[in-house]
This record gives sequence, C-alpha cells and structure tokens, in this order.
Amino acid sequence: MAAALILGRARLSTVVFNDEWPRNWVTQASHGFYTRDGAHPMELLEVAKSQLAPYKAVQYRAEAIASISKEGQVFCVTSASGSVVRARRVILAVGMRDDLAQTGLEGIERVYGRSVFPCPFCDGFELRERALAVFTHGAQDEMVAHYLSMIQTLSSTDLIWFANGRSVGDGLVAELERQGVGVALEVVKCLESDAEGQLTGVVLDSGQVVPRTGGFLGGSYAVANPLVEQLGVPMEVNPMGWSLVQSQEQGQTGLEGVYVAGDVRAGFGKISGAAAQGAVCAAGIVREVAQERWNHG
Ligand SMILES: Cc1cc2nc3c(=O)[nH]c(=O)nc-3n(C[C@H](O)[C@H](O)[C@H](O)COP(=O)(O)OP(=O)(O)OC[C@H]3O[C@@H](n4cnc5c(N)ncnc54)[C@H](O)[C@@H]3O)c2cc1C
Repeated sequence: MAAALILGRARLSTVVFNDEWPRNWVTQASHGFYTRDGAHPMELLEVAKSQLAPYKAVQYRAEAIASISKEGQVFCVTSASGSVVRARRVILAVGMRDDLAQTGLEGIERVYGRSVFPCPFCDGFELRERALAVFTHGAQDEMVAHYLSMIQTLSSTDLIWFANGRSVGDGLVAELERQGVGVALEVVKCLESDAEGQLTGVVLDSGQVVPRTGGFLGGSYAVANPLVEQLGVPMEVNPMGWSLVQSQEQGQTGLEGVYVAGDVRAGFGKISGAAAQGAVCAAGIVREVAQERWNHG
C-alpha cells in the first residue's frame, strides 16, 4: 500500500491486488508505528485504501492473485476470478504466513495474537506485568538467548523458557539461570487458556501445570508465500532459519522486473519496516522509469 501511494503520486499505472489477510490479522492492536500506535490492523488497511482512492493511476482490487508468469519482458498476473493484468514490473509485498501447526504446541491458536505474541517490540510493553512463557520453535541456542534478552528488556523479567523436549546445551541452561530465566526442559503437552484467549498455564507431559499469563513464541514457523516460489526468485535462509527473497537495497531481486518489500524480504520487519521498504522500492521504480523516459526523449 505504501508503494502504491508513491507510484500513484507519480501517475504510474498501478494495480494493487490484496486479498486483505495481513499476517497480524489475529491481533486487536498494532503497536510501534508512530502516529498509528494501537490501531487495529484492519483500520490501517482501511485508511491506506481511502488515501489511495484519489490517485486515478492506482486501481485497488480486493482479490487474490492466483498466478504470475513472465512472458518476455512482461508479467502476466492472473487473479483468482480469472482477470488478467499485464505489467512491466511486479512488487511482491505478500508477506509471510505463520504456520502454527509446525510448532506442535497444542492450544497455541487460541492464544496467538491475544496473549502470546511473536515480537517483543510489538507487544512486550503490553505484557510487561505478566508471568511469561517463552517458546522458541527450531531456534539455535544463540538465538534463544538473544530472544530472551530482548523480552527481558522490552517486556517482563518473570520468564520461563519452555524447551519443549529439545536437547539443550549445559552452557545455555547455565546462562539462562544466571540471567534469572526459569527453564522447563520437558515436552509441553498443551497450553491452557480462558475464553478470551488469555494464557493461564502451560501443561507439561508429566501433567504438571505451570501457571503463566502470557508469552512469546519465536523461531522458524513462518512459510513463504506460494507466489514467491512460483516466480522462482532466488532465495536465501537467514540465521533465524527463515527463507527470504534475496534482494538489494531498493528491493530489486535476482529476477529482472521483480521487487520485494516487507516480510517477504525481511522475515519479520514489522509495519514500519514494510511501509518504509514499500516506499523506497516504489521510489526506485519511479527513478528507473524517469531515466527510461529521459533516454528515449
Ligand atoms: C501476532 C502478530 C502481531 C504483530 N504485531 C505487530 C505490531 O504490533 N506492530 C508491527 O509493526 N508489526 C506487528 N506484526 C508484524 C507485522 O504483521 C508484519 O511484519 C507486517 O504485517 C509485514 O507487512 P507485509 O506488508 O510484508 O505483509 P502483510 O501485512 O502480511 O501483508 C501482505 C498482504 O499481501 C496479501 N497477499 C498475500 N498473498 C496474496 C495473493 N496471492 N494475492 C493477493 N494478495 C495477497 C495478504 O492478504 C496481505 O494483505 C505482528 C505479527 C503477528 C503475527
């Protein structure tokens, strides 16, 4: 949406496809984007749509793209309803999708986005008074320590890390104990919560219930959007274990004419990161078009 705003202001013919299912749809409030702190994710989308409306070069379509193919220098974008748009450039700002089933934590869907969150910058302040559970799916020991240090600073110091049966080096356990973080090594049987999705406890395999009133879930459980794979843009895996599109500063990818912005590029860049990248990417495209027009007189 941020990219479309810049392209619209440059009067470059632009079609936005958005099936309106942002990654943070599960939350009630989005934090940390200045001037919009605490806004509902869908409110952000509605404001963005209304501010795009005056720009006649931009068409907004609230529908999914089914496929994109490249024919010579032109991209052929087919929507779910079968309409076809041809474009010289494509900005993929399709985000990542959290696949909670991968974590194996029974009951996580009921609390995710309500009392258990992925990002301490986004929701740490709101959980600051709580007794927190921390889960890290698939993260290496250094990332576990890093994640916990961020949560301690941005949120609560009452933390228990649930290793959920994974093997843990003695060094990590000693480090966490030194930092005052509790460690539960046992497999987690399920998460207990109330009707509002507030975590009440973590049930271990032995049946022991560890009372907790909120938490964080980090690690690698997000999956790339199918369009990314379909287009065949070169990817890379970052230290968190996330598959991201390789890109340059202005979002250019290894496939000419395809640009990326937001989580598809950053993994978890937050709203401010996605908006900034969208704007930078669009400004780069405007510069390219201006140069092409200049060269052709
Ligand atoms: C529980 C939770 C809480 C969060 N809280 C915060 C917070 O408080 N503050 C913050 O800054 N960040 C927060 N985030 C992170 C934030 O949601 C992401 O970093 C941000 O949404 C990334 O923006 P994006 O534009 O890259 O992707 P998204 O916001 O996910 O947008 C991608 C868009 O592409 C659309 N799309 C995907 N595929 C297609 C297709 N084939 N056709 C058409 N449209 C398609 C989707 O419908 C969606 O609207 C949170 C994330 C989660 C999971």
